[in-house]
Amino acid sequence: DLAIWQRALRDQFPMIEANPDVAYLDSAATSQKPQSVLDTVITYLTTGNANASRGTYPWANRTTTRIDQARDRLKSFLDDPLPDQSTVQFVSGTTEGLRAVARDWLLPQLRDGDEIMVPFADHNANTMPWVEAASLSGVAVRAIPYDTAYDYDHRRFTVTPRTRLIALTHVHHVYGNDMNVQRLRAVAPGVPICLDAAQSFGHIPISVRDLDVDFVVFSGHKAMALPGTGAIWARNQRGPAYTPAGWQGSPNTSGIISLAAAMDWLEKADLTRIAEWNQALGIRLTEGLAKMPAYEILGCQRSLTSDSLVQQRHGIVTFRHHSIGSNDLGFILAGDGLLVRADGHCQGVQGEKTASVRVSLHVYNTPDEVDRLLDALSRLDH
Ligand code: PMP
Repeated sequence: DLAIWQRALRDQFPMIEANPDVAYLDSAATSQKPQSVLDTVITYLTTGNANASRGTYPWANRTTTRIDQARDRLKSFLDDPLPDQSTVQFVSGTTEGLRAVARDWLLPQLRDGDEIMVPFADHNANTMPWVEAASLSGVAVRAIPYDTAYDYDHRRFTVTPRTRLIALTHVHHVYGNDMNVQRLRAVAPGVPICLDAAQSFGHIPISVRDLDVDFVVFSGHKAMALPGTGAIWARNQRGPAYTPAGWQGSPNTSGIISLAAAMDWLEKADLTRIAEWNQALGIRLTEGLAKMPAYEILGCQRSLTSDSLVQQRHGIVTFRHHSIGSNDLGFILAGDGLLVRADGHCQGVQGEKTASVRVSLHVYNTPDEVDRLLDALSRLDH
């Protein structure tokens, strides 16, 4: 049943279909695109293309309407309980979105003695903008490093009346774990939380109602949509200040339309099932790797039971070989048609000091592909 469901989805990805000998295992970098998203974009560009503006002709008005609809679509996709009070600003991706929250929302309100909680082992895109805002403020603002995987579980995480923001990644892009937003919220009631949802949007359901966060920022290209897309969802009109038409430039019309189509696709495919599928693949890989002494799995103790792995892993597994360099390993695997990422994963501030191999799975991947990878890795397990 699950296999039939997955097969039907997998068949909708032309890049996957056209390359049966290749296992694409790098979806955390960018996802492949389903045919319906591509069709929507081509149809728009061939039958509806115009700039979005308060135009005097139907093409322009229809484009404006579709962008407004995409905004509403995103609010419902995120289970927004108060869509009339929230804002959606389309941006080119997570990096630009987080920078915009830091510069346009956080920076103007920073005062002497304020504090910002920064998850230092996270992606540079979610550390540097906050540190930069603190330094641009011109006053004494402390960017306090914390360890998302450790501190708030062990009560080392403390907020004060001067805490202006907590930056947090939803699913870690190297370790694949869910950073447990709700537990963080419990120890920091009322403090604005900005969620980097680059690896969770389009992978697991996100409910801003349940998570009780203030900003959600993500990239469309990792979630079945075109590159150059993404958004900042902000609660209670906290979004960066309204910019008059023309000041922001022309919107990425076809990109935003692809994002709406991607959300339609994901919802129809069933995001809850997608999340389960990806988790199951991640667990299969983790359990296989844990049996091979030559490999060290990052951020994961070998003694973890399947149960705790289920809670932690979201289709991202990162590891090193004890003697083969990660870049070499990446090339060896690519020679077998196994496409993984091998480098430092943009984790510059307080991340892993040496390169590693990251495998990231999505709904078009299969247990067979995971086994193929495990097979290739076991040949090097010495
Ligand atoms: N945050 C995280 C957690 C990511 O994984 C990525 C992409 N690797 C980014 C931010 C940056 O996303 P983008 O390059 O699409 O702006």
